[in-house]
Amino acid sequence: MAVTNKPYTLIKFGDPLLRQACQRVTFPLSEETDFTIDQCINTLRHVQGFWEKRSMSIAAPQVGKLLRLFVMCDQRYWYHPKLQYKKFMTVINPEIIEASDEKCLAWEACVSENDRIALVERPKVVKVRFQSVKGVEHDLLCHGLLSRIFQHEIDHFEGKIMEDHAKKYQSTKELEDEVSFEKFRKANKDYIIEF
Ligand SMILES: [Zn+2]
Repeated sequence: MAVTNKPYTLIKFGDPLLRQACQRVTFPLSEETDFTIDQCINTLRHVQGFWEKRSMSIAAPQVGKLLRLFVMCDQRYWYHPKLQYKKFMTVINPEIIEASDEKCLAWEACVSENDRIALVERPKVVKVRFQSVKGVEHDLLCHGLLSRIFQHEIDHFEGKIMEDHAKKYQSTKELEDEVSFEKFRKANKDYIIEF
């Protein structure tokens, strides 16, 4: 898919757009939806996230479109140093169809929030159903970071943000230098999903 060279948009916490429910995407994809996907990819390519200073995924409302779709770094390349942030996967109309009773805590960052990360409890494993850009339906069992990404992004479609679930916050400013970050990592190693 072509990536536009247009400047990207990023909607931040506090904007009422992030508090609205999103619409299901219809097929075949309209030009506007195609453009939204491009905008998400373009934003992911450029934006500075907190973890590893990059972001793994972004939802359409974060670029200002109230559609149920998100783009994430393609998991097949997560551990590939050169392609990690160059290959993307678009997830359309995702829903959680099963969730484990077992929950887990992890620190989450959101590209719409620069100042804080949040400790959030969520089901450990989820089974999700979504469509590809061609409208093909897929079921996927998600563990670890993948499970987090789906749950975090699906929340965005309901107008929810990580603040709504947070058990604790941490200021990202306090973690800006390497020493503080390493200290935080060590102290919270059980709660950080590594990828
Ligand atoms: Zn987010």
